[in-house]
Parts: sequence; C-alpha cells; structure tokens
Amino acid sequence: MSDRLRISAKNLGEFALPDLCPRCAWIKLRYRLPYQIFPGIFSSIDSYTKKVVHGWIDRHGTLPAWLAELGPIDGYIDPPHHSQFQLEIPEYGILLTGAPDGILRLSDGAVAIIDYKTARYTEGQDRLLPMYEVQLNSYALMAERLDYGRVTKLALVYAEPVTDRAVAEGAVSAEGFAMGFSVSIHPVGIDPGILDPLFQRARELYDLPHPPSGREGCEDCRRLDSLIAGFGDG
Ligand code: SF4
Repeated sequence: MSDRLRISAKNLGEFALPDLCPRCAWIKLRYRLPYQIFPGIFSSIDSYTKKVVHGWIDRHGTLPAWLAELGPIDGYIDPPHHSQFQLEIPEYGILLTGAPDGILRLSDGAVAIIDYKTARYTEGQDRLLPMYEVQLNSYALMAERLDYGRVTKLALVYAEPVTDRAVAEGAVSAEGFAMGFSVSIHPVGIDPGILDPLFQRARELYDLPHPPSGREGCEDCRRLDSLIAGFGDG
C-alpha cells in the first residue's frame, strides 16, 4: 500500500457500476482532470431543493407532504461541508469524504440521510442507482462514526421538472418564469457490507504504477492515442 487515497463517497460509488472503465477510474483517482463536464445547473437545483425543504421545516416543524413518508421528524442537522465530513478507513489507507444533501433528525432519535437528484424518476431503473446506493451507505457509515446519530433511513429524492404545456403557460411572471418539480422518493437499504469490496478495489487500482487498459472499443482513448502520436511527430 502506498500513500493515502482520498476518495469521495460518490467516486467510490462509481466502482459499483458494471461499466466502470478501470483506466478512467485510475486517472480520476490519481489526477485532477483539467475540465469538468457535469453541468453546474443540477447542483444549483439540488441546492435550491435543500433550501426549499429546510425553509419549510423552519416554518412548520414538519416535512413537506411529498417527503412525509421519511418522517416524523424533530428537525434537521445542517449538512456538513466535505472538509468536515471525512472518515479514515485505516485497513485500506483511505480517506473517505462526502457532503450529504440532507440529514433529518427523526422523532425516534435516529437520523435519516437523503440525497437530492434533479432527474426523472424511473422506479429503480436509474443506471446510476448502484453508485447512489454506495454514496448513501458511505454517508451512513461516516455519520455514525462521526457521532451524528444512528442512521435508520436512507433515501434518494428525485426532483423532476414539470414541463406540461398547461403548467408552462401559467408560469410567466414579470421577472421571468417559474418551473415546478414533482418529487419521488426512492428508499435505499442500509448495507455497510457493500463498501468493503469497493474500498479494496479502489485501493488496488490506485496502487497500480501504470494505467490499466481502457474499455474495449472506446473511441475516445483511440483518438487520444492518435493525438499523442501526432504530437510526437511534430
Ligand atoms: S477507454 Fe474510454 S472510458 Fe476508458 S479511459 Fe479511455 S476514454 Fe476513458
């Protein structure tokens, strides 16, 4: 085992995806990529959803009706920044980091952890579900070890834009227009046992001195190789 591997709960979750490319994963573990292709608007909407939920709890002391199945609650814990939400996994020389979207204080003294997803809910068909399950179970492990409380519920909260024409016609205001969201909850099972094999896989990959082979038939790597070969000719 070489130096400490720092990995976010979400990146650890990628190791649960069946189509993970080991070469891409190795590069992401070892280097900061020079660009970020994930559009920032989704993070903005997730952050807005958090403000909507916390604002409602502050005013009413309960969850909005569309989250009621997660309760009853006593309140919420302000989600910690990822610099404050970290856990050493000494067996694998890993520092696990994360930033949960929501931590609810349940009335029975336990806590629920939720993650907002701005996406259409497809009843468990989301290709990324295995990644999200690892992400939430990582948060549960961290929350318990860092004394946030006993975690008894995990859930993904999907917020899907309502784009019907009838709704759109009534959405215009003097300042611009509003967009509504319909919410669906996907409960996630608590299963800390899924994390260990992924810690091990991430560690083994990180320790490889050279990048492993990429995904069979991936055009992007073939193009990159041609590009590098072209620079070599210059
Ligand atoms: S094979 Fe494709 S997915 Fe894998 S490293 Fe290359 S570009 Fe990334």
